[in-house]
Amino acid sequence: MKNEDWLRRSLAAVWHPCTQMKLHERFPLVPVRRASGVWLYDFDGRRYLDAVSSWWVNLFGHANPRINAALREQLEELEHVMLAGFTHEPVVRLSERLAGLSGLGHCFYASDGASAVEVALKMSFHYWRNSGRPRKRRYLSLAGSYHGETVGALAVTDVALFKDAYAPLLRVEATVPSPDWRRAAPGESAADYAERCAQVLEAYLAQHHEELAAFIVEPLVQCAAGMAMYDPLYLRRVRELCDRYEVHLIADEIAVGCGRTGTFLACEQAGIKPDFLCLSKGLSGGYLPLSVVLSTDRVYEAFYDDDVTRGFLHSHSYTGNALACRAALATLDIFEQDRVIENNRATAERFDALAAPLRAHPRVRDFRRTGMIWAFDVADADASFARRFHAAALERELLLRPLGGTVYFMPPYVLRDEEFEFLVAGTLQALDATP
Ligand SMILES: *Cc1c(COP(=O)(O)O)cnc(C)c1O
Repeated sequence: MKNEDWLRRSLAAVWHPCTQMKLHERFPLVPVRRASGVWLYDFDGRRYLDAVSSWWVNLFGHANPRINAALREQLEELEHVMLAGFTHEPVVRLSERLAGLSGLGHCFYASDGASAVEVALKMSFHYWRNSGRPRKRRYLSLAGSYHGETVGALAVTDVALFKDAYAPLLRVEATVPSPDWRRAAPGESAADYAERCAQVLEAYLAQHHEELAAFIVEPLVQCAAGMAMYDPLYLRRVRELCDRYEVHLIADEIAVGCGRTGTFLACEQAGIKPDFLCLSKGLSGGYLPLSVVLSTDRVYEAFYDDDVTRGFLHSHSYTGNALACRAALATLDIFEQDRVIENNRATAERFDALAAPLRAHPRVRDFRRTGMIWAFDVADADASFARRFHAAALERELLLRPLGGTVYFMPPYVLRDEEFEFLVAGTLQALDATP
């Protein structure tokens, strides 16, 4: 079968995510036959460099031999068992290792990022209820925040395109200004701007802390907002203020965790620990849906009681799936064995040098990088820029999906220098082909 056949059958049978399906009358789907390393291959013999890690999930390439081997072994042992009343080796080992990496514990599993956010929001509210403070039931997030698209997570998401249609269904929650350094005043440093935003947060908390359960943030990079990057100073101030005003800090590291920002967790760069930590996306190396919420002993103890209803009675059918946990363990093994965090630092510096022609392009604004995320804004991008640029990039064997007028690279960590050069050259061409 050819691309054309799968494309037709998919449009008849599948409702694709994040898509106005009618647009596919003009912009074809890409049927993927197989993938290996950073490359996707279609049915007509074309290839595409996966420069966005398949929506930010893939870390060590497609069909990674080590993750494949671990999964094959796990398949022969145990594919899945319910996690209420039962436990198994991969979930215990993974929970121990994540606790070691984060300094938190009590891993509570779900399958997707949005479900992890729901878990953290519910746990925070329930903690305050169990602690005799039921009035603390509101949430606060950053302007431009993205925390997923289930009804609870969407309430703390601030992206009009995803949110407006469902507004009547959603709780109205407040936002405070994002410390995104692009908004700094002329002459103001990223750190000074972060401090100014922290002062706005402080004023908000001073007034509303009695009703606030938690402040949820994407540490260091607000990815969906267009790779908005900010100074770690903001997180230090947030930790201090949340402590002072008794408001939980939920770190949504679903996109930025697992080494993306240059440390295993983004919070490490600010030297802080949140009350709740959400991980997903790269956690299973991009193989299987898996998410987790880690919390503090203090949170856990507020639920530990003879009374059943003081417990956290939340569940998903696939909570703690053994195959997904095994993929995550294989992923953590690669981090250790290949000294990934350290090597990525050197890789990123080499890539910075190779990206110089892009930085110098007359349409490129605010070229920026945090860890293994590169982004820039296109000066005169119109409303259809993202779609047109995506199509122009596909013609040059690149999978790139700009966020509005922001083009970004979030490649698998195994991308090689010559592949990054190929990516830069193709991006320059696509830019010139997308007026
Ligand atoms: C992707 C993402 C989510 C949602 O995860 P899903 O698996 O898509 O539900 C939540 N928060 C952040 C920061 C994300 O990038």
